[in-house]
Amino acid sequence: MKYPFGTPPAGDWITITQSGHLAVPDHPIVGFIEGDGVGPDIWNAARPVFDAAVTRGSRGRRQVHWWELPAGEKSLEKYGQLLPEETLSALEQAVVAIKCPLTTPVGGGFRSLNVTLRQRLELYACIRPVRYIQGTPAPVTRPQDVDMVVFRENMEDLYAGIEWKSGSEQAVKMISLLEDHFAVKLDPESGIGIKPMSPRATKKLVRKAIRFALETGRKRVTLVHKGNIMKFTEGAFRDWGYEVARDEFSDRVVFEADLTGDIPDGKILVNDRIADAMFQQVLLRPREYEVLALPNLNGDYLSDALAAQVGGLGMAPGANVGDRCAIFEATHGSAPKYAGLDKVNPGSLILSGAMMFAHMGWKEESDLIMRGISEVIGSGIVTYDLARQMPGSKEVSCSEFGRAVAERIRDLAASLR
Ligand code: NAD
Repeated sequence: MKYPFGTPPAGDWITITQSGHLAVPDHPIVGFIEGDGVGPDIWNAARPVFDAAVTRGSRGRRQVHWWELPAGEKSLEKYGQLLPEETLSALEQAVVAIKCPLTTPVGGGFRSLNVTLRQRLELYACIRPVRYIQGTPAPVTRPQDVDMVVFRENMEDLYAGIEWKSGSEQAVKMISLLEDHFAVKLDPESGIGIKPMSPRATKKLVRKAIRFALETGRKRVTLVHKGNIMKFTEGAFRDWGYEVARDEFSDRVVFEADLTGDIPDGKILVNDRIADAMFQQVLLRPREYEVLALPNLNGDYLSDALAAQVGGLGMAPGANVGDRCAIFEATHGSAPKYAGLDKVNPGSLILSGAMMFAHMGWKEESDLIMRGISEVIGSGIVTYDLARQMPGSKEVSCSEFGRAVAERIRDLAASLR
């Protein structure tokens, strides 16, 4: 395919094998979207960290060939479109990409670019690992007890975008349809939103969460839902989740009702919790939870609440993953008022890069980034957002923070030889 934004750089494509695993060459082409607002600041700080981790982690054997893909304001200026079709094709071709935040233009009828990316590329799982980095200021007394990975369904639920404004022709039609055919009486001025949830999407998500737990040695997968109230959507999510566990992983899972004592070796526990109780559980008994699978709306709330529990969104990594491609991203927005000031925390993007390398099977690179960033923060070198909560710390700029992490990675790699 010809790309109007130039040919891909020299390097080899990542491919997906028939069994659905990634085949990653030593010189892969990886897509990146620089993003809007603070996007360029955090990208310029994070990229040297990634390159240092790859060069040092592989002792020079590997190299990422970064391929810039247009999206957002920069793309609008250069190509007249916020999200060119070719960018979507390029993301599928690259299989793995990393992105900085994109601004959602204000104005009626415009769908967020992030939502469009998820829908068009069928990135059905939003994955957010939540783990405490020693030294980060956190609002709870034992943030180190939190070590969870949230799998949030990314395409259905109230976020599918099926809704009608109060008083609109469609809302009025829906209200009379409900009254005429289903004996449901609503306030005639109600706005209407639809909450679709399917066995197909739920099972894809829960399957991914269970596979992840098995592959990474986690022992528990918890289905989180509000099924006591919304029986045929949230309650069905729980039932379909258990169905996947029973039908596809019967020799590898145990259920709470059958468990006496510890979880047997080689097996994982699949259980479920009601969403409101879960918000309490993650605060009161975080050590009992490892992998969580949630529908879209509750998943959105809980992943942000968990990020706050360990120090805030500035440090929270994430990924949107489908069967054909995965996009790793900083979870915060484009923070326009800080754009170009070289000020914000690039931690979220740096940690998303660590997650991306783990996804590619590059464990040494991923571990080096985790250790590098932890040690830099542990030594009190932080950006303004953390500095104001850490007495005695040294405040540095966004790019200085990136340089400090890259240098730490080089020292760590040298000391490991
Ligand atoms: P935001 O996350 O951009 O910023 C809110 C505030 O959080 C900032 O003013 C700043 O004080 C702080 N902050 C954010 N990132 C930080 C960082 N890395 N380091 C330190 N402090 C940081 O949220 P918003 O203002 O609601 O959204 C701005 C734009 O970003 C909107 O257009 C929104 O749609 C978009 N957005 C994009 C994504 C994405 O691309 N995934 C996610 C959320 C919001």
